[in-house]
Amino acid sequence: MTTAYASTRSVALVGLDPRVVDIEADAVPGPAELHLVGLPELSVWPARARIRSAIFNSGTAWPDAKVTVSISPEIPPVYDAAADLALTLAALAACGVVPPERIAGRVFLGELALDGGICPIRGVLPAVRAAVTAGLRTVVVPADCAPEAAQVPGAVVVPVTRLGEVIDRLRNGTLDAYRYRPPEPSATVARPPGADLADVPGNEAARRALEVCAAGGHHLFLTGDGPATMLAERLPGILPPLGVEAAREVAEIYSLAGRSDRAPGAFPPLCAPHHTSTPAAIFGSVAANRPGAVSLAHRGVLHLADAPEFGRPALDGLSRPMDTGEVRVTGLGRTVRYPARFTLVLDARRCPCPEGRECACTPVDRRRYLHRLALLLPRIAIRAPVAWENSGGGAGESSAAVATRVVAARLRAGHRLAETPWRTNAEVPALELRTSFAAEPEAVELLRSAVNTGLLTVEGFPRLLRVAWTLADLRGADRPGVDDAAGALELWKGADGEGR
Ligand SMILES: [Zn+2]
Repeated sequence: MTTAYASTRSVALVGLDPRVVDIEADAVPGPAELHLVGLPELSVWPARARIRSAIFNSGTAWPDAKVTVSISPEIPPVYDAAADLALTLAALAACGVVPPERIAGRVFLGELALDGGICPIRGVLPAVRAAVTAGLRTVVVPADCAPEAAQVPGAVVVPVTRLGEVIDRLRNGTLDAYRYRPPEPSATVARPPGADLADVPGNEAARRALEVCAAGGHHLFLTGDGPATMLAERLPGILPPLGVEAAREVAEIYSLAGRSDRAPGAFPPLCAPHHTSTPAAIFGSVAANRPGAVSLAHRGVLHLADAPEFGRPALDGLSRPMDTGEVRVTGLGRTVRYPARFTLVLDARRCPCPEGRECACTPVDRRRYLHRLALLLPRIAIRAPVAWENSGGGAGESSAAVATRVVAARLRAGHRLAETPWRTNAEVPALELRTSFAAEPEAVELLRSAVNTGLLTVEGFPRLLRVAWTLADLRGADRPGVDDAAGALELWKGADGEGR
């Protein structure tokens, strides 16, 4: 035994917030022992078991040394095992099994299996970006994660599959020779062929509502028995592609969720959790450091089918991300934030009766059923009925035709909001709607009289002004007039005029 000290780097993720961590190992001669410092207490025992077993199974004898490995800053509160590889190599380098200078200044990511295999980790995209941002360009990752890691500009990605292989390559100095070379990217990314709006029979009012929702980023509530799910699934197809920054955010969320294979690339995501989903599946989990459905819908569409069937915690919990664009999850004594700026599509049948059963509900029953959505409905500015209709011959308008109008409207709004932090009409604060972005006086007057007659609440007033702006953008006008305000009121009431 010659060396007594070694250091290397890894990355710990807290929410989507990656931190480069220093890993240092000290070895003193003596009976074989491994101490881990700076890990959450519950993680120490399993981590030590994985490391010892992996070393043994890689054909390397555990050196006769008492080794202390520390992580700093301390990684709270969950240790997701991504630092296993770095901890192990630091310990081995301190004992002189591998040359310490070949692990210094490099970042190692990977969870060890008991048999010495190196398992893929979640969140490799944000982790590698953090390493490169910290000036640490060479990143050793599990082979399955290499294509994802290589998406980070400037990263030198070295894929590995087994601990024994890493030890051999560090000893003979060939680790970097196996740098990952990503395949040439294809020249253009076409929109994936998906379901088309032309397939949805009839439902003119709901199709129009969907278009306004897409053009302004407004939430949508569909009521009745009808093709609500078909419409929701077609919403991403009429939204503009994501910008570079938004696409990166979305890709990192899918990486952390361990669902990179389902990442939507340049297009807005759609996430439709089932009503039996747990709150952790919907909002995310601190203990698992895993984002939930509201974040998998970030910059895209969150669809809740049969919304009143969801539990109250799920429904009420949505109001905060709807207001702030992020979700806060608490657990293990901490709060973690994940981005969650989505367009919500809710649908509900008119009453709780199972499909096909004759309905005997009273108006009170129906009101009680929809009352479960009490916190959400006031936040939803657009409402439309759906029904199973005969298309009456001839297909409806295609997604491509609708998307053309949506993109044009978004461009108008984008120009107007260019110097602001907001991208869509739905995001513009109420104050700005009175000052920088004021509608025609007649339009404001019409909505104000709706407040006076009790049709609209004071909180609902700015929501309808935002929709009026979107209607103006769709028809290419400079600002909303009285017709746009009237159109917003119609969308608020729903075409069947039920109101709220
Ligand atoms: Zn009923």
